[in-house]
Order: sequence, then C-alpha cells, then structure tokens
Amino acid sequence: MSVLNVPCPCGLPARLVDCCGRYHAGGAALTPEALMRSRYSAFALGLGDYLQATWHASTRPASLDVRTPPQPKWIGLKVVASALQDDSHGTVHFIARCRIGGRAERLEETSRFVKEDGRWYYLDGDLV
Ligand SMILES: [Zn+2]
Repeated sequence: MSVLNVPCPCGLPARLVDCCGRYHAGGAALTPEALMRSRYSAFALGLGDYLQATWHASTRPASLDVRTPPQPKWIGLKVVASALQDDSHGTVHFIARCRIGGRAERLEETSRFVKEDGRWYYLDGDLV
C-alpha cells in the first residue's frame, strides 16, 4: 500500500494523497488554512524542502533540520480559527500537539500568511 493512502496527519478525514499530499506534490494551497495544514503534515512527515518552499523569503530560515533526532513526534492538530484580512493576508490560530522523548508538548500559535504570485506563504507567528 502506498504511503499516500494513510490518513492525512493534518487531522482532516481524508487520505494523505487526497489532502495535504496534493500540496506536497506541488499544487497550490487555496487558503491559508490549507497551507498551514499542509505545513503541519510536512513537519509530521519530515518534508523539510516543502517547509522551506512555503516559508516566505523574508522570514525563511537558512536551513531547517526536521530529520536529525530527537525530533518531536507530531500527534495532532486543531485549527481554532482562520481568517482572511484581505485577498493576500490571512491568519490561522491552531494548536499542535507533539511528544518529545516521553513528554507531551502543546504548541499554540497564530500564524500569519501572505499570498504572492498566486501562492500562500507562511510569514511568521505569535505564540498564544
Ligand atoms: Zn491534510
């Protein structure tokens, strides 16, 4: 069975191939929430290239290591709210849960997204 037939890590009731996998394969996410979910899934799957590619050039880290242990094991995402400020600016408030070693951690953030040339990018975020 293809790995793409697994449930999508982002928590929507869909297979990876029908959900965030479409964006990992190059499709444009249509909303900030879709991009945010696909980036969460990319963290869960260790897709560093995708995370770099969807990070706005002005805030993108020079390098991103999502594979060298110890990595958090991402175990759940809840989107609390998402909003568009205008055609090219949006925010997504989410709670992501992970385990680091044996410890459960919770990341709550309001992320900002901008759209350029038809594509949404992660800009930055505020921890809640
Ligand atoms: Zn998904």
